[in-house]
Amino acid sequence: MELLKRVIEEKGTVLSDQVLKTDSFLNHAIDPRLMDAIGADFARYFADQGITKVITIESGGIAPAYSAALHLGVPLVFVKKAHPVTMTSPLTARVHSFTKNREYELCVEQSLIDPGDRLLFIDDFLANGDAFKGICSLADQAQASLAGAGICVEKAWQNGHALITGLGIPLNVLASIQSMSQDDGIMWASPVSDAISRG
Ligand code: 5GP
Repeated sequence: MELLKRVIEEKGTVLSDQVLKTDSFLNHAIDPRLMDAIGADFARYFADQGITKVITIESGGIAPAYSAALHLGVPLVFVKKAHPVTMTSPLTARVHSFTKNREYELCVEQSLIDPGDRLLFIDDFLANGDAFKGICSLADQAQASLAGAGICVEKAWQNGHALITGLGIPLNVLASIQSMSQDDGIMWASPVSDAISRG
């Protein structure tokens, strides 16, 4: 998605050859017009997938996931990273955090995911796919299925992309980074969205 790439080039900061900071428009401050365009793009890509619900993880995924859900006309559920006392019947999954380099527990109220739901996972970044694996575990526990994954930014040398496509799950990546460094900036990969099998 050219718009997202342009905003990343203008406003993103390469913190290291592994981590990109996008706090001023994607996952701390939010650019609403950019989120609207991102959600429309995801909704177009997954329009024929029978999506019944969008799912994401707090907090970085919420803005693009909300926009995708609005454009698809389906509800959004965001999974929490801590267990509030108000959650009476949680499904849980342990996940490794790429940016914090520690384990944490995902939890979601069981009644918010229905058996048979076709879930679209949306997230701000895809690195090694640990967040995605946690969502898969929650979907399994709820007897729902993962019908697609929409990612704003991936780092193509990490394992997440191959993990998702290896499971045969349609994946739409809006901006794929081939490599990055503080000296040379960002090198974009060629378009990476894997075609949805319509046959
Ligand atoms: P994964 O679970 O795929 O290894 O990592 C994805 C999660 O880690 C995303 O939800 C995102 O919050 C965080 N993440 C991974 N890489 C980056 C990065 O380069 N920048 C930022 N801001 N977050 C990242």
